[in-house]
Amino acid sequence: MAKVRCKLVSWNEVVRWCMDLADRILESGWRPDVIVAIARGAYVPARLLCDLLQVTDLASVQVAHWGRAAEITTKAHIKCPVKVDLSGRKVLIVDDIADTGESIIIAKKHIEQDCNPAEVKVATMQWISPVCKIKPDYYVEEVKEWIWYQYPWTRLEDTIDFIEKILKEEGKEKKEWTRREIISKFKEWYGIDVGKQYYDRAIAYLIKQGTLEEQVKGCKRTLIYKG
Ligand code: AMP
Repeated sequence: MAKVRCKLVSWNEVVRWCMDLADRILESGWRPDVIVAIARGAYVPARLLCDLLQVTDLASVQVAHWGRAAEITTKAHIKCPVKVDLSGRKVLIVDDIADTGESIIIAKKHIEQDCNPAEVKVATMQWISPVCKIKPDYYVEEVKEWIWYQYPWTRLEDTIDFIEKILKEEGKEKKEWTRREIISKFKEWYGIDVGKQYYDRAIAYLIKQGTLEEQVKGCKRTLIYKG
């Protein structure tokens, strides 16, 4: 059994979810004048929605909240505000997933207070209903059991963070690793396979950062955890 429940999301799924989301918005008869993406997770879905809804104005607000993969590190706060006058305009706030919902709540409050919009609605691909403090106006999937969506735009970031977590926990007992062992632990812990290109890039990053050191003994290459 995986230690952290994860779903590996493909680009095709993202396109399909955004199409479903656009259809739901179109069917409701409501049309936004402006889309505001919550950075960084909403960039791709927001851009796709601009295309699918034929909206030309796209702004963004960055909210900091979740830090390392699957872990909340700070209280949600606005990192980069939207500095646009949205007077008289209908705004669609887009996020990839509404988990705690705090990013959306804080972004919505900021836009309503500082940008003077006519109306604000919220759209997300996923909505984790048992834990989320808000319900998006539009969503595609209601998620009833918490899971980490491993979206394609955080694949390397998540792989690095997930490997670091493994090393931190198991590295107390085991300092010397082969690539194969790291990859196999990754699959065991997270129940997903991100593919060789991502494991290679993540390990190369961890070597560069000094978390791992590569040692070559004859024809055997090992990775030493330096943490
Ligand atoms: P939240 O404020 O908790 O609703 O989430 C803020 C952001 O963190 C989301 O927009 C995602 O980019 C990321 N995030 C939170 N929870 C998850 C999850 N379960 N799976 C993937 N990404 C997530």
